[in-house]
Amino acid sequence: MSSGRKCKNCGSLDIEVDPARGDAVCTKCGSVLEDNIIVAEVQFEENAHGASNAIGQFVSADSKGGPTNFGASFHVGMGIESREVTLRKARNGIANLCNQLRLNQHCIDTACNFFKMALARNLTRGRRNTHMYAACVYITCRTEGTPRIL
Ligand SMILES: [Zn+2]
Repeated sequence: MSSGRKCKNCGSLDIEVDPARGDAVCTKCGSVLEDNIIVAEVQFEENAHGASNAIGQFVSADSKGGPTNFGASFHVGMGIESREVTLRKARNGIANLCNQLRLNQHCIDTACNFFKMALARNLTRGRRNTHMYAACVYITCRTEGTPRIL
């Protein structure tokens, strides 16, 4: 896979990029390259999905302040198997937020659907769950025309 990247360690152009994990590895010497690949991928995904603008702002706010939280969010082995767990946790988190905002069950369902969409597009990668929930509820309020400020 030609990505135009060059290994800083051995100079090889044979770099394997893993968008799901947000990193790139030199296939020759095995060193991991950190070329802000996460940011590049996230921007690409957001362009493909207009509704995610708000989510992107949360992330850039995060990544500016010192050590990023990406490491904590990128759980090893967090793949398809944990999808159900992720969705269940998301539903709880979203329901919590909606209760605080006195939103009804319909809003919880809508917000959960947004989260599912984001999950299917890997938009949740590298993001804090709480930010994802807030963003989903925010989108719901916007689409439902409910006046709420988060
Ligand atoms: Zn190398």
